[in-house]
Amino acid sequence: MNREYCCQSPIGKVVAVVTAALTVVVGAFFLPYAASAAPLFDAGATTWSIRHDSLAGPTIRFAAEELQTTLAAISGATLPVVMEETAGPAIILGVLPEVTAPDEIAILSEPDVLRLGGGSERAVLHAVYAFLQDPLGVRWLWPGEDGAFIPRRTRWEVPPLASRYRPPIRYRGLHLCGDWRDVKDFRLWMARNFINIHRHGGHGDSRMFYNMQSSHNVRLPKELFALRPELFAQIRGQRYPSQMCFSQPEGEAIVAEQLLAKLPADLEILSLFPSDNMDYCQCPQCTAQGVSTAWFSFYNRLIAALHAQRPSLKFATIAYQGYRDVPAVAVSPCEFVEYASHARCHVHTLGDPTCERNRDTLAEMRQWQQTGAVMGHYAYEFDTFRASPFLPFFTIIEDAVQTSVSLGHVAVITEVSLSPRSGPPEQAYAVRNRLPIWLYARLLWNPYMRVTDLVWEWCETAYGAAAAPMRVYLLAMDRAWSALPVHCTILGQAATVAPQLITPELQKTAAEAFLAADRALDGAVNPAVEREKILFRQWLDMLGHDHEVLVPLLPATTEAPASAQGSSPLPLPGAAVRLAWSPEKLFVSDITAACEVVLSTGLGGETWHFAVDAAGTPSAWRISAVGVRDDRWQPEWSFSKGVMAIPFAALGAAPAGNEVWALRVLSGQQAFPEASAPPAGLRFCMSAKTDRTVLWWSGRPSRDDREVTHVRRQFQEAGWQFKLGVAANLATGSADVYWFRNPGYENKPPVEAWLEIRKRIEAGALAVFVSYARMPLEQYFDDPSFFVAVREIRGLPLAARQVKRLQPGAWLKTPHKLGNFGITPAYGLVPKQPEVWEALADMPVDGDQPDATVPFILARRYGQGTVVVMGDRVAVKPVQLVENFLQLHTP
Ligand SMILES: [Zn+2]
Ligand SMILES: [Zn+2]
Repeated sequence: MNREYCCQSPIGKVVAVVTAALTVVVGAFFLPYAASAAPLFDAGATTWSIRHDSLAGPTIRFAAEELQTTLAAISGATLPVVMEETAGPAIILGVLPEVTAPDEIAILSEPDVLRLGGGSERAVLHAVYAFLQDPLGVRWLWPGEDGAFIPRRTRWEVPPLASRYRPPIRYRGLHLCGDWRDVKDFRLWMARNFINIHRHGGHGDSRMFYNMQSSHNVRLPKELFALRPELFAQIRGQRYPSQMCFSQPEGEAIVAEQLLAKLPADLEILSLFPSDNMDYCQCPQCTAQGVSTAWFSFYNRLIAALHAQRPSLKFATIAYQGYRDVPAVAVSPCEFVEYASHARCHVHTLGDPTCERNRDTLAEMRQWQQTGAVMGHYAYEFDTFRASPFLPFFTIIEDAVQTSVSLGHVAVITEVSLSPRSGPPEQAYAVRNRLPIWLYARLLWNPYMRVTDLVWEWCETAYGAAAAPMRVYLLAMDRAWSALPVHCTILGQAATVAPQLITPELQKTAAEAFLAADRALDGAVNPAVEREKILFRQWLDMLGHDHEVLVPLLPATTEAPASAQGSSPLPLPGAAVRLAWSPEKLFVSDITAACEVVLSTGLGGETWHFAVDAAGTPSAWRISAVGVRDDRWQPEWSFSKGVMAIPFAALGAAPAGNEVWALRVLSGQQAFPEASAPPAGLRFCMSAKTDRTVLWWSGRPSRDDREVTHVRRQFQEAGWQFKLGVAANLATGSADVYWFRNPGYENKPPVEAWLEIRKRIEAGALAVFVSYARMPLEQYFDDPSFFVAVREIRGLPLAARQVKRLQPGAWLKTPHKLGNFGITPAYGLVPKQPEVWEALADMPVDGDQPDATVPFILARRYGQGTVVVMGDRVAVKPVQLVENFLQLHTP
């Protein structure tokens, strides 16, 4: 019976396959035995106990608690935890002397005894989790109670078990970044999925994780800069506090002393690396060595100094940024050197011959491997985008983990952001990526699993009857990701990739899969399936439209908006319907005929209908996600003097600022949008004004299109209508602001458009010109005083590329406080007639002449309007620049 159970378990099968492939597995086989043993539990009762040594440490005690609670959830029976030799059958938890590798686990049974042990207390904890997963079938797919899938059983006998497993990756880590939302649940989930390290020793739980501290911690005290500048980085003859000089013999003593003063007593691993910028010392000694050799020589001296004081402490470091390449010195023995793969592309596999970045990354990893240093991998898969949506890159993470194993990495740690702190769960990045994060953890534990099998395991566990169609959807997403015609490194904007990922074919596959999932569930609602739909919808939303209905925010006390107050009128011939909102209500105003407004949050299928007939009689109903009309629904709302006032409380859902809902409006015979089109986006803007338009022109669409999607979002979120400039609307469309990016490149604005644009500026519009290169402004304005040359900067390190002067004025403060312009542009502006321009911002231009400056933002009045010329590119959002530039000539 027992043998049969084990062989039939799909997971058992995979383990058996893995065993054959793994030399690290000492043995995994089943011993037949004849003796009859007491069942572990039967009908809610048990004769077994959980036993451990009275000297057992906190990790084993915690393992006993985890085992006790989970077994109780499975069976209804609570096994007592005892510390002395007792009669009767027992699960014995403890470190096993015959297991010498600290991370190796052992699961051994004989009649009435089950040993869950390993080479260390943490291995004992992992043996408990391994036993609960297989053979008992427990899965912790995501943090929190709803992510625990615990199969209920009535009676169960411990089968003959004799397995030992040593995971090939000793340190399996997730580095938690961001706001640490629900961090306690997340950490427990990590441990239950065999993660055993993170970088925040002291803030974690050393029962479950190695206590490691790791940050950009190698630096001198700031106050030392004034007293001992020679200890700091020298760049082109000047000292900067950006980095320390790695060649000064006193450096390591000062850093060591500083670190030792703060080290917690129970720290196990101290990972050391310098400040996070590239302005390294260029003094003759550092330059002669190169950054990598200078740093790793310093690291060797530093850990020697620290080791003398704290002999039991282990050390680690990373190979990152300027010190990512292999140094000319051997790295002193330490726990690991993590190769940081921030330069890789997350669309292609490592070593993909069509992806130069990944070819180079793999080549560098191999060079490191050849030095004989103990290596690890510090990865960034989940940082592919800012504000990450669901990343369906299962193949990519499988490849990353397998590559690490093939290179002998002892540590693999990847960054996971637990942000934002609040808001609905679907907005949390770690919730959006709960599937790939789970896959990552499982692969770190057992890299020989196939990711497609794990996806199936997830589908069967989480989606029940809908498993098969959901797998079709997930694998289609994975294939689409790997087929992207672009490269993605880190911190990109997902909106720029959305149009290429979410192709019409993929939309069709997803829609069919979701429909098949609904059918398979036969009316039952599976929250995990619903969540996948929402996550897909988030990608769909990013496809972006030139036109959204931008609804302005009115004060909370608003009872009804004044006539013509609200959004721009909807494009309904013969009607001028507008929308506005307050924190309590949505207003639909200027209704003069029969009208029906259809709303939904856009995330679920339910729609709300508010209507008035030609006689002005209101009615409301809702239609459920599966199309059932509910006329008994009686929301509290009102219609009076052409204004619908719909309290969000009546809907049971209130929008957050900038949330986008779905909208349809029917007025007489007219519909917005057309009946056959998907609903329009209804954006709840945080701004009280949404009637201004920006027209965005790109001279290099092939390059700039990638940024348009998120720039459009930024403008729309601030309440601006965003129009992408094309020749037709440039000459005829009216805009409040024109933004010309690289207009001198291949996509030039038509010559005849300039006359019209000049008229608009004279009448009060703002025009901003931004480029890397010179722009023929004197032609655009038909005026030689507009001639502006450009000057390339020379010999300036990034640390020196900082704003030198800002022209005081409202443009710096209103409505946005602009202080940080980031790194200054690579080209400055040299006007032929400086007297007609106002230089708003100056920057250094030549490393040999530290006092020489050149403007990078110029402005001048033109009629009632304003012209601004700017170097590319400034670290302030275009919409903020625009709103502040509008203050320039406001009295
Ligand atoms: Zn130096
Ligand atoms: Zn690539």
